[in-house]
Amino acid sequence: MSKVRVRFAPSPTGPLHIGGLRTALYNYLFAKKMGGTFILRIEDTDRSRYVEGAEKYILEALKWSGLELDESIEKEGDFGPYRQSDRKAMYEKYAEELVSNGHAYYAFDTPEELAKMREDLKTKEDPNPKYNYVTRGNMKNSLSLSEDELKAMIDNGTPYIIRLKVEPGEQIQFSDIVRGEVTFSSNELDDKVLMKTDKMPTYHMANIVDDHFMEISHVIRGEEWLPSTPTHVLLYRYLGWEDTMPQFCHLPLILKPDGKGKLSKRYGAKMGVPVFPLEWKDKEDLFIGFREGGFLPEAMINFLAFLGWNPGTEQEIFTPGDLIQAFELERINKSGARFDIEKARWFNQQYIMQTSDAELAKLVRPYVEAEGHQPTDDYLQKVCGLMKERFEVLTDFWENSRYFFEEVSSYDNEKIIRKRWKPENRKKMQDLKSTINRLSNFTGENIEAHVKKFIEEKELSFGEVLPFIRLAVSGTTKGASVFEMMSVLGEDEVAKRLARGFEDFDKIKENA
Ligand code: GLU
Repeated sequence: MSKVRVRFAPSPTGPLHIGGLRTALYNYLFAKKMGGTFILRIEDTDRSRYVEGAEKYILEALKWSGLELDESIEKEGDFGPYRQSDRKAMYEKYAEELVSNGHAYYAFDTPEELAKMREDLKTKEDPNPKYNYVTRGNMKNSLSLSEDELKAMIDNGTPYIIRLKVEPGEQIQFSDIVRGEVTFSSNELDDKVLMKTDKMPTYHMANIVDDHFMEISHVIRGEEWLPSTPTHVLLYRYLGWEDTMPQFCHLPLILKPDGKGKLSKRYGAKMGVPVFPLEWKDKEDLFIGFREGGFLPEAMINFLAFLGWNPGTEQEIFTPGDLIQAFELERINKSGARFDIEKARWFNQQYIMQTSDAELAKLVRPYVEAEGHQPTDDYLQKVCGLMKERFEVLTDFWENSRYFFEEVSSYDNEKIIRKRWKPENRKKMQDLKSTINRLSNFTGENIEAHVKKFIEEKELSFGEVLPFIRLAVSGTTKGASVFEMMSVLGEDEVAKRLARGFEDFDKIKENA
């Protein structure tokens, strides 16, 4: 096989949706697996849809996700430029070539004339009549006008576009790696615009010229482009490039969790789940991102890889390197993939658990500092070691671990205090405090052994002691091992908290 060269070709019309990122990911994985080249091409010929900041967002999102580009607008290879607006001069020649060999034509219709045609010809069966072999004869174009009329229009400088001339009655066939042999009847196609009045190419024209000259071997893109593919096949054919035409691979849609409809940014906003890799603000809305939602990029990538692909085994955790090894285009599913944020959170938790304490401490530090605390690295690492199985996203770290950084100010289970705290045990509990305090070796294990011995000696029950130590120390009855927690907090802090807690419990009991 000739060298694998694949491109991710977003249009900078807004932030990169998670579906776009999945397209980028599959291109990247395939390129890396095959020792090929992963290219970013910015398709910005539709200036009316251009959004400021979108290009920067795309680059940043790819970087954060770890999808390293081999050629791009920032890293020019031998096939540049990599932004279509910078390649504008290249396209006209091929559109004109198609006109001269009879596969395209000039069209002079005004927007009003086009609207009138659609209005006049629309029927119940065909509410949206096409500009095609049926209608083009009655429109104003170089096929219908006489030579003199045509010349006059061009001499007058009447604006025109170039349209592809699709011949009726043809079966256009191509093979798709996901879908197998696909056939479209040319009768279903319209005469797509190739060049606009300002000599800017349309997506179809620019895409084919660029894929050809950038020597793209495989076009891996979303399913929404499948209906455009027969037009692309015709363009390759009419330009004489069919023998080097890339192989097509159309990826399944990403659906809402219930499988009903496409995952949209509106859905994300409504449900408060991220459907973008990074946060995006526009005039009206703020869309949350996986990054700001506390996801690790590797976890998001692992999750995305499974939206439309599976390795055919039970294995679910794949580092980016494992994914490259395991990935095969042939294992991409045909049917739509359901987006399930709970699964993404599960992946994230798996990755958090695998992250070293030192690394995790770096990741959670901003959240702790945002709350006004500056713990030492050593302390933060210990907290991470203890808590890493207890949060799914980084943003939940603070809420679950706050008692390691600030005093306990309330108790999440006063009911148990009112019911089970025994002021008559207070003296004994006071002794517990001194026992713990006197421990020379303040490890979880040692604390546990002493507390248990103490409970036995004083003839108390676990239920009379343990929940109250936990509440006094952390304010909550949930959480990590109470003995480990105490060890991390240190003996002075523990002594202080026990004293304060026992006093509070008496008061709560009194007021009950
Ligand atoms: N510019 C198109 C997009 O925004 C690219 C489609 C393709 O890959 O051909 O998705």
